[in-house]
Amino acid sequence: MIKYKLECSDCELAFDSWFASSAEFEKLKKKRLLVCHICNSTKVDKTLMAPRVMNNKEDFKKSSQLKKYENIKKTIKSYQKFIKDNFKYVGENFAYEARSIHYDQKKKSKGIYGKASKKDLLELKEEGIDTQMLPWVEDNDN
Ligand SMILES: [Zn+2]
Repeated sequence: MIKYKLECSDCELAFDSWFASSAEFEKLKKKRLLVCHICNSTKVDKTLMAPRVMNNKEDFKKSSQLKKYENIKKTIKSYQKFIKDNFKYVGENFAYEARSIHYDQKKKSKGIYGKASKKDLLELKEEGIDTQMLPWVEDNDN
């Protein structure tokens, strides 16, 4: 038996429930058999956090942290927009493309961006090729 702390996202009721196993929990959830016993909503899910303490100060801290995070995300997204507008996306070929621009001086190319491993970046650096690492937020909006 396993005990989960569940929470209804409609009425915010938190309650404990026992399940035979975590697999059983997932099964019930998939079949929408997890129902809030106050408002009958099926938007019931495990809370990942430890039992919540209702403490205004804590909540305030959390919300200001969230705001900070949202602001950072916004900044990153505006960077991303700039990069998407001005750079060419080369995906996994980043290291290859970076080299071809570096070694073929005649090749006029706008900047590129893409994915590279730490090893790639290190090798590029050794070859004197400048790269910048940027934090990236996956775009779920489109
Ligand atoms: Zn509810």
